[in-house]
Amino acid sequence: MFEIKAKDGLGRLGMLKIGKRSVETPALMPVINPGKLTIEPSEMERLFGTQILITNSYIINSSERLRERALDKGVHSLLDFDGAIVTDSGSFQLMQYHDVDIPNSEIVDFQGRIGVDVATFLDIPTLPDVPYHKAKSDLMTTLERAREARELRQGYLNGTVQGSTYLRLRRMSARRMAELDFEIHPIGAVVPLLLQYRFKEVADIVLTAKRELSPAKPVHLFGAGHPMMLSLYVLLGCDLFDSAAYVLYARDNRYLTPYGTKKLEEMTYLPCCCPVCSAHTPQELLAMGNEERTRKLALHNLHVTYEEMKRIKQALHEGSLWDYVEMRVRAHPKLYFAYRSISRHRDLIALSDPLVKRTTEFYTGPETRSRPVFHTAMARATERLPGAACASHRVFGKVPAGLLHTYPFNVETDSEPTIGLSDEETVLQIADYQFGRGVGKKLFEGTRMSYSKSDRVRTIFLGDEVLATLRARDGLFILADEGQRRLHAILPYPKYRVKVDNEVAPYVVSHGDVFAKFVKDVDERLHSGEEVLVVNEQDELLGSGWLLLTPNEIPHFKRGIAVKTRRGAK
Ligand SMILES: [Zn+2]
Repeated sequence: MFEIKAKDGLGRLGMLKIGKRSVETPALMPVINPGKLTIEPSEMERLFGTQILITNSYIINSSERLRERALDKGVHSLLDFDGAIVTDSGSFQLMQYHDVDIPNSEIVDFQGRIGVDVATFLDIPTLPDVPYHKAKSDLMTTLERAREARELRQGYLNGTVQGSTYLRLRRMSARRMAELDFEIHPIGAVVPLLLQYRFKEVADIVLTAKRELSPAKPVHLFGAGHPMMLSLYVLLGCDLFDSAAYVLYARDNRYLTPYGTKKLEEMTYLPCCCPVCSAHTPQELLAMGNEERTRKLALHNLHVTYEEMKRIKQALHEGSLWDYVEMRVRAHPKLYFAYRSISRHRDLIALSDPLVKRTTEFYTGPETRSRPVFHTAMARATERLPGAACASHRVFGKVPAGLLHTYPFNVETDSEPTIGLSDEETVLQIADYQFGRGVGKKLFEGTRMSYSKSDRVRTIFLGDEVLATLRARDGLFILADEGQRRLHAILPYPKYRVKVDNEVAPYVVSHGDVFAKFVKDVDERLHSGEEVLVVNEQDELLGSGWLLLTPNEIPHFKRGIAVKTRRGAK
């Protein structure tokens, strides 16, 4: 079961529950070679808080010693790790050596018998750029094996999306995998593309698959463990990342940074403060024996990868992931152009991307203009404020003057725009932008305003009662009780409504959040992050809050919150 806690772009801060084990996503899964532990999983748990890792059931099955121990004591005991264990099936070996001597049903059954948390069937990872007929026939075999595996296993199973570099096949693969109701969807066979820095093609493959997959299923981008690419693919909706890079690169004296890979021989300084880099110089590391140096470099590599993941999670939490990605993609031109190319998928991203975030957007360069949120907001402003008094804006050109301090028009640039409107006109423009054309006048009829210390409109009063507050951070209204009642009366059903099951109505009135599974109906034009009215099945007002999930996401989720309730109705 998967639930979402925060979102930005297609990226999600989520919680994946597999039986009694919980994994916060996006998550890094170190790849463990069960025959050769460079760093013990228990040490990873202690040093980095590792909640999930991935190992290879084909390797375990191929070694008599490992197989017997895994069958006898279970895979968690074999690896001495109590977190979630994902196993690959031998697909990687299939890609490398083109032959695996174990049938699909047997390897799926074996993974069940050793107690893995997430198993993988024997899909065929078709390499990039093979002829179309080859990619298609591989995919047909993969789909057959997918059906067989789904029938065999009750527990969590990876439904890997294949199809080589053919987007048509990737799309068909994702659709079929979604129909089979797998718990997690890896995007397979992209490692050769990533190694060749073909980040744009990987972005296309991910976004093509995302169109077909349920938003309630985590996506694992196979082989994307380098810290420099993590933030981009999190933004595109990938939740799980495996890293073999930490140890493979270490064996090769390669040092990971979030902005690229360095060769240890060419380094004079170690630009990191992890325990390894604090204690050693590059020369000292080079003077060590192979095994010791590999271990130390692997520790550093894991350290920077986990650190990057934490920065990404914080950015997701505060809604600043777009700013962060625009900074990161400047590490390599191919990442930068991959990022620019995603604007071709703006329709898909705009569906999920919140229209209100916790932090102001930053203008970091011309590509900032292509963020979907700006297009959504401009389209809304044009529709809801026709003929409004406009001001000129550094990024948007002409915008309704009253919205200059409202998200996302309040994007940080090098100058502060001047509104040049009366406060009365400004609040009307904001209310119309936020709730619909002509709503402001009716909502604020007979009210008065109070001001903050910095002389901005703060609160709208009706007599002595607060009707609404203009939130300083994003210049949007939060409705108090009277404001909710008025908006409910002004807007006909289903506008700005989230209708919930009558059974949970008392819970919402006492400020309880609305869980996705109790939502009966929702205004389809709403975006994530918006202020909404929560009503019962008879359209009686229960309270208000902000919408976490988008209308198209809500029906997919069996767990988690759809609306964060701000206040119940009095
Ligand atoms: Zn370090």
